[in-house]
Amino acid sequence: MQTKAYAAKGPTTPLGPHTIERREPGPKDVAIEILYCGVCHSDLHTARSEWPGTKYPCVPGHEIVGRVTAVGGQVDRFKAGDLVGVGCMVDSCRTCASCEEGLEQYCDGPVGFTGTYNGPLGAPENTHGGYSAAITVDEHFVLKITHAEKDLAAAAPLLCAGITTWSPLRHWGAGPGKKVGIVGIGGLGHMGVKLAHALGAHTVAFTTSPAKVADAKALGADEVVVSKDAEQMAKHAGSFDLIVNTVAAPHDLDAFTALLKRDGTMTLVGAPSTPHPSPAVFNLVFKRRAIAGSLIGGIPETQEMLDFCAKHGITSDVEMIAMQDIEKAYERMLKSDVKYRFVIDMESLK
Ligand code: NAP
Ligand code: ZN
Ligand code: ZN
Repeated sequence: MQTKAYAAKGPTTPLGPHTIERREPGPKDVAIEILYCGVCHSDLHTARSEWPGTKYPCVPGHEIVGRVTAVGGQVDRFKAGDLVGVGCMVDSCRTCASCEEGLEQYCDGPVGFTGTYNGPLGAPENTHGGYSAAITVDEHFVLKITHAEKDLAAAAPLLCAGITTWSPLRHWGAGPGKKVGIVGIGGLGHMGVKLAHALGAHTVAFTTSPAKVADAKALGADEVVVSKDAEQMAKHAGSFDLIVNTVAAPHDLDAFTALLKRDGTMTLVGAPSTPHPSPAVFNLVFKRRAIAGSLIGGIPETQEMLDFCAKHGITSDVEMIAMQDIEKAYERMLKSDVKYRFVIDMESLK
């Protein structure tokens, strides 16, 4: 199927109209009309080759929501008309230990998981993401959306920003009695604050933007710290069980590891294109603190997060844009000027 899309043709070429080929649904496939797609900072990193390995033309987008238009003969979980989502993955080996545990993002197969965009196994070229009118995906990687239809656009960012913060919050046991920090109040961070709060943790937001303090409280933070203010930071020394760091740029990690309790963990989910300055060893060894990392989340935990959010009335705070405004959105994202996730209305692509 010839499908309208928006693509980057090179690292310095602005995204523009492009036509891609989507496969007709095979026996296990679900064909989806894309209604909305969130804009993740990873889209920008990839489109502009800030990370190695971008294949062009590149159609980003991995916070996809839409409506099923057709299903293959062996699909039993979905039918035409259903509201569904697709996140960061569209395939994996399905047989390795990680896949069998439902942690497809850590697939140990020969090529790992297949990214929704820039993945290796797409036909006829690399996989293409959600900045497009339609997508065909194996049912294993399709998520059920149980939010009300009016909340569909605001549910789109759950497919990456939501699961990327949910997975480490759950893995490291965020909940009642735990003090949890979220660093960077952007797309990921604002979801991290909402989810940590909903899980019952004492939630502290760290921002470099004093103008976001009131917003962060409204999102569910019990306390907000302007991370550039050493005095405010010092008040929290040695007190956190867990810090989830979503910052998309290299920065001083020691300022945050110093805030962990004995045995506390800071997990990095932000993925800057150049490394953070090397962390101070003494900050870690004296209190057995850990710096960890976490990648998106598996399909079962993504469904768990979507269902949790639907039940608790949680969505993303979104600003709707037309497809044609994507470059303007990227520039604002680089200035930390997003409240708190851009979502593309695919109607604008028609
Ligand atoms: P975003 O919306 O741009 O948010 C990042 C936030 O970090 C900004 O809003 C800002 O918050 C803060 N920030 C930006 N520059 C900073 C700097 N120089 N120093 C300190 N803080 C700074 O981006 P996003 O979509 O949430 O993505 C964040 C990062 O996570 C990206 O690198 C993305 O590629 C990565 N990511 C990783 C995964 C994964 O699986 N691990 C999944 C998705 C995305 P304040 O204004 O509050 O300071
Ligand atoms: Zn993402
Ligand atoms: Zn696997």
